[in-house]
Amino acid sequence: MNSLKQYQFWLVVGSQDLYGEETLRQVDEHARAMVKGFESDSTIPCTIVYKPCVRNSNEIYNIIQAANNDASCAGIITWMHTFSPSKMWIRGLNILNKPILHINTQFNRDIPWDSIDMDFMNLNQSAHGDREHGFILSRMRINQKVIAGHWEDKRFRERMADWMRAAVGAYESRRLRVLRISDNMREVAVTEGDKVEAHIKFGWQIDHYGVEDIISEVEAVTEAEIDAQMAEYESLYEFATDDIEAVRYQAREEVALKRFLKEGGFGAFHTNFQDLQQLKQLPGLAAQNLMRQGYGFAAEGDWKTAAMVRIMKLMAADMSTGTSFMEDYTYHMEPGNEMNMGAHMLEICPSIASERAKIKVMPLGIGDREPPARLTFKAKDGPAILVSLIDMGDRFRMIVNDIICQEQRFDMPKLPVAAVLWKPLPDLETSSEAWIYAGGAHHSVLSYGLTAEIMRDWAEIMDIEFIHIGEHTKINDLRRELNYNDIIWKLK
Ligand code: MN
Repeated sequence: MNSLKQYQFWLVVGSQDLYGEETLRQVDEHARAMVKGFESDSTIPCTIVYKPCVRNSNEIYNIIQAANNDASCAGIITWMHTFSPSKMWIRGLNILNKPILHINTQFNRDIPWDSIDMDFMNLNQSAHGDREHGFILSRMRINQKVIAGHWEDKRFRERMADWMRAAVGAYESRRLRVLRISDNMREVAVTEGDKVEAHIKFGWQIDHYGVEDIISEVEAVTEAEIDAQMAEYESLYEFATDDIEAVRYQAREEVALKRFLKEGGFGAFHTNFQDLQQLKQLPGLAAQNLMRQGYGFAAEGDWKTAAMVRIMKLMAADMSTGTSFMEDYTYHMEPGNEMNMGAHMLEICPSIASERAKIKVMPLGIGDREPPARLTFKAKDGPAILVSLIDMGDRFRMIVNDIICQEQRFDMPKLPVAAVLWKPLPDLETSSEAWIYAGGAHHSVLSYGLTAEIMRDWAEIMDIEFIHIGEHTKINDLRRELNYNDIIWKLK
């Protein structure tokens, strides 16, 4: 398991000089105790850093400037233990360039009925101070996330953890480099998009290389490197083929691709089956095994989905739940048991497998090359999300659908690819109509560990439109939301 502890969040507690040293000392003591509590709770995936309380405009400015400049700081968490007049915050908040979580909590859970006096109330007045703080964040149109509740409460901490994952996603987004091998699939619209806008909005550096650049790497791979890659396949997967040469060719492709990705500092990549030049096989097993290692991938030139696979894998890096490139493929329309089956012509990530994946070599109807080796498996059951990112021309829109993945009872012996069966919420009819009205792509990211709420937080940090399709979705309400959003985003 990879830890998310490398990402730091600074707890910035606001106060003022009005209350005297003794009160401020207690504020600091409480903040320290809270950080200690968070740090010893495995619910909180990242590191929370205690900072001395800030009392005036200069201290606020200085700590925000320091947070901006600290490479390991992924966000700040503000809390007004006492009252911290908000005009003091304007100068600092004006330069804030990290995500901000505003926790509205209180050190003591209960009012001490017998002993409460004015001193106690002045010390513990976040009900008062956090409202002043919330005003200035709203007034300055800063996308604050607000979480209210007692800091020792499990749900409060889980919600903090969710927001931290979103902030980790924003952090990783802003340093992501995406490798485009060739261009988009001809004539396809939804995988297109404005790469300059994506660079500005998400931080993605999206660079194209010709297939020949990859081919020269593929040709340079040695037999020893292929042997080592084959040994890894043998340790992870079951060989359900006699065509070892075909598998060795995927191993060769994986070694080459991985070297290219590493040397270029790329976190995600795409291929395009229409442009393989002298490559003998479309990367199947190679792409699947690279996804398992955390690389983002999508097919047919889809750089947006490839980037999101990478980001979402990093947001869930400490979870053993699985995240994959996905494509809606075939419906099962049996009344009362409606389902969607997702797959791709090869490239589904084995991190979502419910069983040991099998390596098979089978012909590919499209692509005009040798039969590629690929992994096939049944996928896990349980709740998951599907995420699609599209370019609406004047903005990016993220669409998330809650789904329940189903146990696969049938073996589908003639199906040559990995597949996932799911029941989308609220039902197949509504979710499909909603997804289509919203313009959601056929490509998506499937994640078992992340939730719609986490992706909503990510979208808000990145300042893009967010559409959620879940158990409460009503089609006409959703259509109205899409219409209203069109106007809202034109005004932004
Ligand atoms: Mn596709």
